[in-house]
Amino acid sequence: MKIVYSDKHAVHDPQTFFVRGVKQRSAEQPERATRLLAAAKDAGHEIVGAKVYGAGPAAAVHTPDYLDFLQVAAREWARLPNASTEVIPNVHPARYAATYPKALAGRAGWHQADLACPIGPGTWDAALASSEVAATAADLVLDGFREAYALCRPPGHHAYADMAGGFCFLNNTAIAARRLRGRHERVAILDVDVHHGNGTQGIFYDRPDVLTVSIHADPANYYPYFWGHAHETGAGAGHGFNLNLPQPVGSGDGPWLAAGDAALQRIREFAPTALVIALGLDASESDPLQGLKVTGAGFHAMAGKIAALGLPTLLVQEGGYLSDDLGRNLVQFLSGFEQAR
Ligand code: ZN
Repeated sequence: MKIVYSDKHAVHDPQTFFVRGVKQRSAEQPERATRLLAAAKDAGHEIVGAKVYGAGPAAAVHTPDYLDFLQVAAREWARLPNASTEVIPNVHPARYAATYPKALAGRAGWHQADLACPIGPGTWDAALASSEVAATAADLVLDGFREAYALCRPPGHHAYADMAGGFCFLNNTAIAARRLRGRHERVAILDVDVHHGNGTQGIFYDRPDVLTVSIHADPANYYPYFWGHAHETGAGAGHGFNLNLPQPVGSGDGPWLAAGDAALQRIREFAPTALVIALGLDASESDPLQGLKVTGAGFHAMAGKIAALGLPTLLVQEGGYLSDDLGRNLVQFLSGFEQAR
Protein backbone atom coordinates (compact mmCIF):
# COMPACT_ATOMS: atom_id res chain seq x y z
CA MET A 1 0.00 0.00 0.00
CA LYS A 2 1.17 3.55 -0.65
CA ILE A 3 2.04 5.32 2.60
CA VAL A 4 2.11 9.12 2.43
CA TYR A 5 4.44 10.79 4.93
CA SER A 6 6.11 14.12 5.70
CA ASP A 7 8.92 14.53 8.22
CA LYS A 8 7.73 18.10 8.95
CA HIS A 9 5.57 16.71 11.77
CA ALA A 10 8.66 16.61 14.01
CA VAL A 11 8.71 20.40 14.53
CA HIS A 12 5.53 20.00 16.61
CA ASP A 13 6.49 18.53 19.98
CA PRO A 14 3.84 19.51 22.53
CA GLN A 15 5.11 19.57 26.09
CA THR A 16 1.97 20.19 28.09
CA PHE A 17 -0.86 17.82 29.00
CA PHE A 18 -2.92 17.78 32.17
CA VAL A 19 -4.23 14.55 33.70
CA ARG A 20 -6.49 15.09 36.72
CA GLY A 21 -4.79 18.43 37.27
CA VAL A 22 -1.27 17.04 37.06
CA LYS A 23 0.97 18.46 34.34
CA GLN A 24 2.68 15.81 32.21
CA ARG A 25 4.45 15.66 28.87
CA SER A 26 1.95 15.20 26.04
CA ALA A 27 1.44 11.64 24.80
CA GLU A 28 1.30 13.04 21.26
CA GLN A 29 5.05 12.79 20.61
CA PRO A 30 7.02 12.84 17.33
CA GLU A 31 8.25 9.30 18.00
CA ARG A 32 4.72 8.04 17.30
CA ALA A 33 5.11 8.86 13.61
CA THR A 34 8.68 7.61 13.29
CA ARG A 35 7.66 4.27 14.84
CA LEU A 36 4.65 3.94 12.53
CA LEU A 37 6.81 4.80 9.53
CA ALA A 38 9.51 2.28 10.48
CA ALA A 39 6.93 -0.47 10.96
CA ALA A 40 5.27 0.25 7.61
CA LYS A 41 8.65 0.29 5.85
CA ASP A 42 9.71 -2.99 7.47
CA ALA A 43 6.46 -4.56 6.29
CA GLY A 44 7.34 -3.62 2.70
CA HIS A 45 4.91 -0.76 2.10
CA GLU A 46 5.89 1.99 -0.34
CA ILE A 47 6.60 5.41 1.19
CA VAL A 48 5.54 8.47 -0.82
CA GLY A 49 6.34 12.09 0.06
CA ALA A 50 3.53 14.61 0.60
CA LYS A 51 2.92 17.27 -2.04
CA VAL A 52 2.85 20.98 -1.24
CA TYR A 53 -0.69 22.40 -1.34
CA GLY A 54 -0.48 25.21 1.20
CA ALA A 55 -3.62 25.93 3.22
CA GLY A 56 -6.07 25.35 0.34
CA PRO A 57 -7.26 21.86 1.35
CA ALA A 58 -7.60 22.95 5.00
CA ALA A 59 -9.55 26.07 3.98
CA ALA A 60 -12.23 23.84 2.46
CA VAL A 61 -13.07 22.70 6.00
CA HIS A 62 -11.80 25.35 8.45
CA THR A 63 -12.79 29.02 8.89
CA PRO A 64 -10.51 31.94 7.88
CA ASP A 65 -10.42 33.30 11.46
CA TYR A 66 -9.28 29.95 12.81
CA LEU A 67 -6.58 29.41 10.17
CA ASP A 68 -5.28 32.93 10.79
CA PHE A 69 -5.19 32.29 14.53
CA LEU A 70 -3.25 29.02 14.14
CA GLN A 71 -0.68 30.73 11.92
CA VAL A 72 0.03 33.73 14.15
CA ALA A 73 -0.71 32.42 17.66
CA ALA A 74 2.74 31.18 18.71
CA ARG A 75 4.54 34.26 17.35
CA GLU A 76 2.16 36.79 18.94
CA TRP A 77 2.05 34.84 22.21
CA ALA A 78 5.85 35.01 22.45
CA ARG A 79 5.60 38.83 22.48
CA LEU A 80 3.31 38.87 25.54
CA PRO A 81 5.02 39.52 28.87
CA ASN A 82 6.05 36.40 30.82
CA ALA A 83 4.47 34.08 28.23
CA SER A 84 5.18 30.34 28.09
CA THR A 85 6.52 28.86 24.83
CA GLU A 86 3.15 27.17 24.19
CA VAL A 87 -0.17 28.93 23.70
CA ILE A 88 -2.53 27.62 26.39
CA PRO A 89 -5.67 29.66 27.11
CA ASN A 90 -6.74 30.41 30.66
CA VAL A 91 -10.28 31.45 29.70
CA HIS A 92 -13.04 30.05 27.47
CA PRO A 93 -16.34 31.52 26.23
CA ALA A 94 -18.08 28.34 27.44
CA ARG A 95 -21.78 27.83 26.73
CA TYR A 96 -23.21 31.34 26.61
CA ALA A 97 -23.62 33.78 23.73
CA ALA A 98 -20.27 35.48 23.27
CA THR A 99 -18.40 37.95 21.07
CA TYR A 100 -15.31 37.01 19.08
CA PRO A 101 -12.41 38.81 20.83
CA LYS A 102 -9.46 40.68 19.32
CA ALA A 103 -6.93 39.92 22.08
CA LEU A 104 -4.78 36.85 21.47
CA ALA A 105 -5.50 35.38 24.91
CA GLY A 106 -9.21 35.62 24.12
CA ARG A 107 -8.81 34.15 20.64
CA ALA A 108 -6.88 31.27 22.19
CA GLY A 109 -9.80 30.57 24.51
CA TRP A 110 -12.22 30.75 21.58
CA HIS A 111 -10.26 28.42 19.31
CA GLN A 112 -8.74 25.93 21.79
CA ALA A 113 -11.30 23.62 23.39
CA ASP A 114 -9.10 22.21 26.14
CA LEU A 115 -5.58 22.06 27.60
CA ALA A 116 -4.56 19.15 25.36
CA CYS A 117 -3.84 21.26 22.27
CA PRO A 118 -0.99 23.61 23.20
CA ILE A 119 0.32 25.60 20.23
CA GLY A 120 4.11 25.80 20.05
CA PRO A 121 6.45 27.49 17.54
CA GLY A 122 6.25 24.51 15.12
CA THR A 123 2.58 23.62 15.47
CA TRP A 124 1.24 25.45 12.42
CA ASP A 125 3.94 24.08 10.09
CA ALA A 126 3.40 20.53 11.32
CA ALA A 127 -0.41 20.72 11.21
CA LEU A 128 -0.27 22.17 7.70
CA ALA A 129 2.09 19.39 6.57
CA SER A 130 -0.24 16.82 8.15
CA SER A 131 -3.15 18.22 6.14
CA GLU A 132 -0.98 18.01 3.02
CA VAL A 133 -0.29 14.33 3.78
CA ALA A 134 -4.06 13.76 3.87
CA ALA A 135 -4.63 15.73 0.67
CA THR A 136 -1.84 13.88 -1.16
CA ALA A 137 -3.29 10.51 -0.15
CA ALA A 138 -6.81 11.62 -1.11
CA ASP A 139 -5.51 12.62 -4.54
CA LEU A 140 -3.90 9.17 -4.96
CA VAL A 141 -7.34 7.63 -4.43
CA LEU A 142 -8.91 10.15 -6.80
CA ASP A 143 -6.23 9.24 -9.34
CA GLY A 144 -7.34 5.61 -9.29
CA PHE A 145 -5.45 3.88 -6.48
CA ARG A 146 -7.94 1.68 -4.63
CA GLU A 147 -6.44 2.55 -1.26
CA ALA A 148 -3.80 4.72 0.38
CA TYR A 149 -2.68 5.44 3.93
CA ALA A 150 -1.99 8.98 5.16
CA LEU A 151 0.51 8.89 8.04
CA CYS A 152 -0.77 12.12 9.55
CA ARG A 153 0.71 13.75 12.64
CA PRO A 154 -0.57 15.74 14.47
CA PRO A 155 -3.91 13.93 14.32
CA GLY A 156 -7.10 15.77 13.38
CA HIS A 157 -10.45 14.22 14.32
CA HIS A 158 -11.09 16.33 17.44
CA ALA A 159 -10.66 19.58 15.46
CA TYR A 160 -13.87 21.40 14.49
CA ALA A 161 -14.15 23.98 11.71
CA ASP A 162 -12.91 26.66 14.12
CA MET A 163 -11.64 24.87 17.22
CA ALA A 164 -8.63 22.75 18.17
CA GLY A 165 -8.82 20.11 20.90
CA GLY A 166 -7.38 16.80 22.09
CA PHE A 167 -3.97 16.97 20.29
CA CYS A 168 -5.74 18.03 17.03
CA PHE A 169 -5.55 21.27 14.99
CA LEU A 170 -6.54 20.62 11.37
CA ASN A 171 -9.05 17.84 10.73
CA ASN A 172 -7.15 15.66 8.26
CA THR A 173 -9.96 13.10 7.99
CA ALA A 174 -12.52 15.82 7.16
CA ILE A 175 -10.09 17.50 4.75
CA ALA A 176 -9.61 14.18 2.93
CA ALA A 177 -13.36 13.45 2.85
CA ARG A 178 -14.10 16.94 1.54
CA ARG A 179 -11.51 16.42 -1.18
CA LEU A 180 -12.98 13.05 -2.20
CA ARG A 181 -16.44 14.62 -2.11
CA GLY A 182 -15.33 16.83 -5.02
CA ARG A 183 -15.68 13.84 -7.33
CA HIS A 184 -17.82 11.44 -5.27
CA GLU A 185 -21.48 12.25 -4.56
CA ARG A 186 -21.53 10.37 -1.27
CA VAL A 187 -18.53 9.80 0.99
CA ALA A 188 -18.61 7.82 4.24
CA ILE A 189 -16.26 8.26 7.20
CA LEU A 190 -15.72 5.48 9.73
CA ASP A 191 -13.75 6.49 12.82
CA VAL A 192 -12.27 3.60 14.82
CA ASP A 193 -10.08 5.68 17.15
CA VAL A 194 -10.74 4.98 20.84
CA HIS A 195 -12.02 8.57 21.16
CA HIS A 196 -15.15 9.86 19.48
CA GLY A 197 -14.40 11.84 16.31
CA ASN A 198 -16.24 14.90 17.59
CA GLY A 199 -14.63 17.43 15.26
CA THR A 200 -15.45 15.33 12.20
CA GLN A 201 -19.02 14.85 13.44
CA GLY A 202 -19.34 18.60 13.99
CA ILE A 203 -18.01 19.52 10.55
CA PHE A 204 -20.50 17.30 8.68
CA TYR A 205 -23.35 17.30 11.23
CA ASP A 206 -25.91 19.02 9.00
CA ARG A 207 -24.93 17.36 5.74
CA PRO A 208 -26.58 14.33 4.09
CA ASP A 209 -23.75 13.77 1.57
CA VAL A 210 -21.04 12.77 4.08
CA LEU A 211 -22.02 9.97 6.47
CA THR A 212 -20.08 10.02 9.75
CA VAL A 213 -19.85 6.85 11.86
CA SER A 214 -17.71 6.51 14.99
CA ILE A 215 -16.89 3.52 17.23
CA HIS A 216 -15.30 4.66 20.51
CA ALA A 217 -15.12 4.32 24.26
CA ASP A 218 -18.34 5.58 25.85
CA PRO A 219 -18.03 9.36 26.40
CA ALA A 220 -20.08 9.00 29.58
CA ASN A 221 -16.72 8.10 31.15
CA TYR A 222 -14.15 9.10 28.56
CA TYR A 223 -12.87 12.06 26.50
CA PRO A 224 -14.50 13.99 24.75
CA TYR A 225 -17.43 13.62 27.24
CA PHE A 226 -19.74 16.19 25.59
CA TRP A 227 -19.98 14.45 22.21
CA GLY A 228 -20.15 10.89 20.90
CA HIS A 229 -23.39 9.76 22.50
CA ALA A 230 -25.78 7.48 20.62
CA HIS A 231 -28.57 10.06 20.49
CA GLU A 232 -26.45 12.45 18.37
CA THR A 233 -27.76 11.55 14.91
CA GLY A 234 -27.25 14.70 12.81
CA ALA A 235 -29.22 17.93 12.35
CA GLY A 236 -31.39 19.47 9.63
CA ALA A 237 -30.67 17.89 6.25
CA GLY A 238 -28.01 15.81 8.01
CA HIS A 239 -30.47 14.14 10.37
CA GLY A 240 -29.86 10.39 10.25
CA PHE A 241 -26.39 10.76 8.71
CA ASN A 242 -24.36 10.53 11.92
CA LEU A 243 -24.07 7.25 13.83
CA ASN A 244 -22.29 6.89 17.16
CA LEU A 245 -21.52 3.42 18.52
CA PRO A 246 -20.08 3.95 22.02
CA GLN A 247 -18.54 0.90 23.71
CA PRO A 248 -18.16 0.35 27.46
CA VAL A 249 -14.71 1.49 28.59
CA GLY A 250 -12.43 -1.55 28.81
CA SER A 251 -14.28 -3.73 26.31
CA GLY A 252 -12.32 -5.83 23.82
CA ASP A 253 -12.41 -7.40 20.36
CA GLY A 254 -15.87 -8.99 20.52
CA PRO A 255 -18.00 -5.88 21.08
CA TRP A 256 -15.65 -3.75 18.96
CA LEU A 257 -15.94 -6.02 15.93
CA ALA A 258 -19.72 -6.32 16.42
CA ALA A 259 -19.89 -2.51 16.38
CA GLY A 260 -17.82 -2.69 13.19
CA ASP A 261 -20.51 -4.91 11.61
CA ALA A 262 -23.22 -2.40 12.60
CA ALA A 263 -21.16 0.48 11.22
CA LEU A 264 -20.54 -1.29 7.93
CA GLN A 265 -24.22 -2.18 7.60
CA ARG A 266 -25.13 1.52 7.89
CA ILE A 267 -22.40 2.39 5.38
CA ARG A 268 -23.77 -0.19 2.90
CA GLU A 269 -27.25 1.35 3.21
CA PHE A 270 -25.78 4.80 2.55
CA ALA A 271 -24.10 3.43 -0.61
CA PRO A 272 -21.09 5.75 -0.79
CA THR A 273 -18.59 5.58 -3.63
CA ALA A 274 -15.58 6.42 -1.43
CA LEU A 275 -14.63 5.74 2.19
CA VAL A 276 -12.32 7.43 4.71
CA ILE A 277 -11.18 5.52 7.79
CA ALA A 278 -10.09 7.64 10.76
CA LEU A 279 -7.52 5.09 11.86
CA GLY A 280 -6.74 5.62 15.50
CA LEU A 281 -4.77 2.76 16.99
CA ASP A 282 -5.38 3.85 20.59
CA ALA A 283 -8.18 1.31 21.04
CA SER A 284 -5.28 -1.14 21.58
CA GLU A 285 -5.06 -3.13 24.81
CA SER A 286 -1.44 -1.86 25.03
CA ASP A 287 -2.19 1.82 24.51
CA PRO A 288 -1.25 4.03 27.48
CA LEU A 289 -4.67 5.73 27.31
CA GLN A 290 -6.43 2.43 28.18
CA GLY A 291 -9.89 3.08 26.76
CA LEU A 292 -10.59 -0.26 25.04
CA LYS A 293 -8.75 -3.59 24.86
CA VAL A 294 -8.50 -4.38 21.15
CA THR A 295 -5.79 -6.90 20.15
CA GLY A 296 -3.62 -7.02 17.05
CA ALA A 297 -5.91 -9.76 15.73
CA GLY A 298 -8.85 -7.42 16.35
CA PHE A 299 -7.29 -4.68 14.20
CA HIS A 300 -6.54 -7.27 11.49
CA ALA A 301 -10.16 -8.51 11.52
CA MET A 302 -11.68 -5.00 11.49
CA ALA A 303 -9.51 -4.03 8.50
CA GLY A 304 -10.65 -7.12 6.61
CA LYS A 305 -14.32 -6.28 7.16
CA ILE A 306 -13.75 -2.71 5.94
CA ALA A 307 -11.77 -3.79 2.89
CA ALA A 308 -14.52 -6.25 1.91
CA LEU A 309 -16.81 -3.29 1.15
CA GLY A 310 -14.74 -2.98 -2.03
CA LEU A 311 -14.73 0.83 -1.95
CA PRO A 312 -11.90 3.20 -2.83
CA THR A 313 -10.58 3.76 0.69
CA LEU A 314 -8.32 6.29 2.34
CA LEU A 315 -6.85 5.42 5.74
CA VAL A 316 -5.98 8.50 7.81
CA GLN A 317 -3.82 8.11 10.91
CA GLU A 318 -5.44 9.56 14.03
CA GLY A 319 -4.46 8.61 17.61
CA GLY A 320 -2.39 5.73 18.95
CA TYR A 321 0.32 6.36 21.53
CA LEU A 322 3.70 4.93 22.41
CA SER A 323 3.68 1.23 23.25
CA ASP A 324 5.57 -1.78 21.93
CA ASP A 325 2.48 -2.71 19.92
CA LEU A 326 1.95 0.62 18.12
CA GLY A 327 3.82 -0.28 14.92
CA ARG A 328 2.67 -3.90 15.04
CA ASN A 329 -0.98 -2.85 15.21
CA LEU A 330 -0.58 -0.66 12.13
CA VAL A 331 1.00 -3.54 10.23
CA GLN A 332 -1.81 -5.84 11.41
CA PHE A 333 -4.41 -3.40 10.14
CA LEU A 334 -2.71 -2.86 6.76
CA SER A 335 -2.18 -6.58 6.18
CA GLY A 336 -5.78 -7.36 7.19
CA PHE A 337 -6.93 -4.75 4.71
CA GLU A 338 -4.77 -5.97 1.81
CA GLN A 339 -5.60 -9.64 2.35
CA ALA A 340 -9.32 -8.91 1.98
CA ARG A 341 -8.96 -6.91 -1.27
ZN1 ZN B 1 -7.77 8.91 20.15
